Amino acid sequence: MKNLLGGKGANLAEMCLLGLPVPAGFTITTECCTDYYENNCELPEGLMEQVWDGMRKAEQVMGTKYGDKDNCMLVSCRSGARSSMPGMMDTVLNIGLCSETIPGLIKKTDNPRFVYDSYRRLIMMYADVVMEKAEGIEPVDGVGIRKILDDVLDEYKESKSYKSDTELTSEDLQFLATEFKTIIKNKLGVEFPDDATKQLEGGIKAVFKSWNGKKAVAYRRIEGIPDDWGTAVNVQAMAFGNTGDGSATGVAFTRNPATGENLFYGEWLKNAQGEDVVAGIRTPNPLNDDTKNEQNKHLVSMQEDMPETYKELCEIRTILENNFRDMLDIEFTIQDGKLYMLQCRVGKRTGVAALTMAMDMFKEGRIDEKEVIRRVSPTQLDELLHPILDSKDEAKHTVVAKGLPAGPGGALGVIALTSEEAMRLQKAGIANVLVREETNPEDVEGMRAADGILTARGGMTSHAALVARGWGKCCIVGCEALQINMENKTVTIGEKTYKEGDILCLNGTKGLVYDEKVAMINATENPLFQEFMQIVDKYRTMGVRTNADTPEDTEQALKFGAEGIGLFRIEHMFYGKNSEAPLAILRKMILSGSTEERKKWLNELQVYIKQSVKGTMKVMNGKPVTFRLIDPPLHEFVPHTEDKVAQLAEELGIKVSELKDRIEGLKEVNPMMGLRGVRLGIIYPEISETQFRALFEAEAELRKEGNDPHLEIMVPLTVSVTELKHQKEICDRVHAEVESAMGAKINYLYGTMIEIPRATLVADEIATVADFFSFGTNDLTQMTFGFSRDDVNSIIGEYKEKKILPADPFQTLDQEGVGQLVKLGVERGRNTKPQLKVGVCGEHGGDPESVEFFFKAGMNYVSCSPFRLPLARLAAAQAAVGK
Ligand code: ADP
Ligand code: MG
Ligand code: MG
Repeated sequence: MKNLLGGKGANLAEMCLLGLPVPAGFTITTECCTDYYENNCELPEGLMEQVWDGMRKAEQVMGTKYGDKDNCMLVSCRSGARSSMPGMMDTVLNIGLCSETIPGLIKKTDNPRFVYDSYRRLIMMYADVVMEKAEGIEPVDGVGIRKILDDVLDEYKESKSYKSDTELTSEDLQFLATEFKTIIKNKLGVEFPDDATKQLEGGIKAVFKSWNGKKAVAYRRIEGIPDDWGTAVNVQAMAFGNTGDGSATGVAFTRNPATGENLFYGEWLKNAQGEDVVAGIRTPNPLNDDTKNEQNKHLVSMQEDMPETYKELCEIRTILENNFRDMLDIEFTIQDGKLYMLQCRVGKRTGVAALTMAMDMFKEGRIDEKEVIRRVSPTQLDELLHPILDSKDEAKHTVVAKGLPAGPGGALGVIALTSEEAMRLQKAGIANVLVREETNPEDVEGMRAADGILTARGGMTSHAALVARGWGKCCIVGCEALQINMENKTVTIGEKTYKEGDILCLNGTKGLVYDEKVAMINATENPLFQEFMQIVDKYRTMGVRTNADTPEDTEQALKFGAEGIGLFRIEHMFYGKNSEAPLAILRKMILSGSTEERKKWLNELQVYIKQSVKGTMKVMNGKPVTFRLIDPPLHEFVPHTEDKVAQLAEELGIKVSELKDRIEGLKEVNPMMGLRGVRLGIIYPEISETQFRALFEAEAELRKEGNDPHLEIMVPLTVSVTELKHQKEICDRVHAEVESAMGAKINYLYGTMIEIPRATLVADEIATVADFFSFGTNDLTQMTFGFSRDDVNSIIGEYKEKKILPADPFQTLDQEGVGQLVKLGVERGRNTKPQLKVGVCGEHGGDPESVEFFFKAGMNYVSCSPFRLPLARLAAAQAAVGK
C-alpha cells in the first residue's frame, strides 16, 4: 500500500481502519505523480473528476461543503512519498478560503480572528509553495516570498510590541492578509487566486512539483531514493488547532526516541496550526510530566491543561503501538476540545533507543526474536560501542573542518603533532588528538596513546583508518582542509591557526571536526546489549572471526564474540610496542648483502616470530588462527633518517654509502605491485622457511604445554597454483623436520589469500593445493578497479558526488564487479574441493551490506577488526533471518 499511497496516505488509511478520529479525505496515488511528469506536467486525464468525487464524500462525512458560502469545508494538500522524507516536500493548509467563503465561515464560527489567522497562513504557504516554488521561480537575491512575508509579519508584531503570534487580533490579521496579497502581486506578478476551485488544483499540482524541489532532490541523492517513485497527494479536511484556547496542535513519540524509555514523549502548542510546532516558530510546551526538562518545565503541559483529551491521546498511543508493534511518531490537532489524528509513522531513533525498544517490545510480547534482530541496524549497534558526542550539545557548535569518518565515536583532547607528544600526554593523563599529515607504522604507539586521530591525507582503508577501527578508536582521515606546519608546530584550518595544546573535538561517526569542547556520552555499559547479542548468535549461521595480531587485541576480540582469527599479520610484530629489537633484526635481514648473511639474521628473527605467534595462539586456545606469511612492501621497514642509516651501517659493518646503495636497490616505482606477498618467499625462500619453522615450533610447544592450538598458514597475493606448490614444498620439508626434531605430530591447514583477479579465475587449480581460501577484498578491490587505495581517495569522493559510483568500493563491496569475482572464486574453488573452507578477511568483513553478500555467496566466515565483531555478528544474523 505504501508504494501506491505513500507512507503518510497508507498510515492515514490504517488509522481510519483502526477507528481513530482522522479528518475525512482521500489520497491521490504516486502513480498519478509519475504520470504527471511523463505527461509534461499535465494532470492525468479524469483526475480532477475523481478528485471532486472524493471531495463530495469528504463533505458528507464532515457535514460541510468545499467552496460553500455559508458552510465551507477547508482542506490541506499534503505530500507523502513511499519512504519518509521529513520536511523535504511541501504541504499547503487552509485551502478553500476566499472572498466567497470567508464571511460565511466568520458567521458560522463567530470567530473572525480564527478565520483571518487561517487566511494569512493560506496566503503565506500558497505564495511560497504554489506560486513560487512550483513555478520554478528563483527568488531575487535568494530571498523568497515566504521570507519576505515572514519579515513583514515580524515587523508588524514589533511595531505593536507583540511577543507572540497569538496576540495578533482579527483586525491585525485582516490587515496583514491584504498587505500580503499586494506584496505577492508586486513580487510575483500574479494575483493570489480568489477562487476555491483554482486553489485546490494549484495545491495538488504544487505537491506533485515539490517532488522535484531542490531539497527533495538533494535528500533523495543522499538517501538513495529513486527519482521515479513520485509522491502521493493527501487531500484532507482541515482540523483547526487555531480557533482559540480550547484548541491546540502537537507532535509526539509513543516512546522516548533518544533513550527508548517506555514513556510518552511530546510537545504541543495551544491555539496554533501544525506547522508552528514542526518549524519551531514558537517554543512548544511539554506534552506531559515525562517530557518536562529545565527549559520547558515552567510551561503548562497538555496533561495538566486538557486532562480528558490527554487521556484519549494516551489510549490512541496504546492502540497504535498494539497495531504497528513499534515506536511511532504522531501528529495530532485538537479543535475546540475534539482530538484529531493527522499522521503516524515509525519513528526515527538513536542506537540506544533502538536496542532498548527492541528488547522491551520482545519482553512485552509484541515482537519475536527474529524481529528483535531486525529492529536494530548495525549502524545503531555501532553507536553503542563507542563514546559519542552528545548530539544536543554538538548542534550548538560550529564545524571547522570535515574529513572521512574512519573510526566511529567521539574524541576530545589537546592537539599532539607527534607520536612522542601523544604518548607523553597519555602518560600525564591528558586526553589528546593526534594530528598528522598521514600516519605510518612508526606512529602506531602514538595512535594507541591518542584519544582521537586526525589526518590530512589517507582514505578509509588507509593505515590510520584500519588501525583506528581495529581499536574502536575515533578517527578522521583525509581531512584536506588541514595544513600542518611541523617547523612552527602549527595546524591551520582556513583562517584559524592552532598549536599543540589547543583543543580539538572529533565526531568520527560523521567526520566532523570542532575546535571547542563538545559534551560526550557513554552508551557501552548496557546489560541489554549482552542479552541482545545472545539472541543474535542464536540465529546466526555464518562464522565470525577477527583480524588481530596481539594477545591484547585477541582478548578484546574474544569479549566481542570472535570464533577465531581470520587474519594474523606476521609483520605487525614489527610495529608498536616491543618492536624495536625484532625490527632492528628485520632491517638487517632486508638489507643483507648475501643469502648467508640473510639466513643469519633470519635465524635471530625466528625466535621473535615464534614468541609473537605463541602469545596469540595461546589466547585463542581451541579456536583457529590463520597466520599470513609476511606481506610488507619492504621499503616501509627501511630506516629513513640519516642518523638511523648511519647506525645501521655500523651494525652491518659496511659503509654508509654502501648501505644507501642497498636501500636505493629496494626502491620500487609501485611497491604495492612489486615485491610483496608470496613473491617475497619465491625470491627469498629462506624468509618463508623461517616463518614455517617458527609456526610449527610454536604449535608443537604450545601443545606440549597442554594447549590446543589450531594452526592455519596462509600465503598472500597468490596468482597461480605453481606459486603455492613452490611454497608448499618448503613447508612440507620444514614440517617433517620440526615433527621429527620435536617428536610431535603437528596439524595445520595450508591455504591462500585470493586477492588478485587472476586468482579468482584459476581458483579451481589453486584449490588442488589450498585447504582454504580467504578473500582479501581490499587488494581485490584495488586490483579489480585499478584504484590505488592510498591515492584514489579524492577521486572516489568526486565519483560518488557525480553518481559514477554508488559508494566507496573500499568501504562497501562492489557487488556487481568485485563481488562477481568473489562468487566465481568460491564456485571454482568448490568445484575442485566441495568442502573447501572459504572466508573473507578484508575490511569488508565488518561492513553489514557486504556481510549479507558474503553470506549469500556461501562463505564459512567473515573476519573483521575486534570492534566490528558485534556488527558483523548482527549483519550475519540479519542475513540469516531475512529482512
Ligand atoms: P510534513 O510531511 O512536512 O510533516 P504534513 O503534511 O504532515 O507535512 O503537514 C505539516 C503540518 O500541517 C503538520 O503538523 C500536520 O499535522 C498539519 N496538517 C496537515 N494537514 C492538516 C489538516 N488537514 N488539518 C490540520 N492540520 C494539518
Ligand atoms: Mg508531518
Ligand atoms: Mg593484501
